[in-house]
Amino acid sequence: MIIDLTCQKCEASFELNAQALIDGTEPLQCPQCAARAPADLARAFVAALTEFRAQVAALDRKFLLSVTFESPPSRSSTTSTPRTTTSAEARRPLRRPHPSA
Ligand SMILES: [Zn+2]
Repeated sequence: MIIDLTCQKCEASFELNAQALIDGTEPLQCPQCAARAPADLARAFVAALTEFRAQVAALDRKFLLSVTFESPPSRSSTTSTPRTTTSAEARRPLRRPHPSA
């Protein structure tokens, strides 16, 4: 499992191997500016990853899994980049059940 990360500090994108993170062979750290997650947060994240991976392994008798995670939009980084949302995409009419009978 490969995790894609973007550094909030220098905006560098990098990848981390989940297995290496779990093994502790790779730190949760930006290779460009050396920013890293707080130790307790990193530990909790690795624990969650370990658990997640175990559950995926348990599930794979029935389903194979491929996941893309996105961080929720962060409130701290309200920079000058305005996000334009296409209103046409958001306004999709709800499908109502057909009133038959
Ligand atoms: Zn960085």
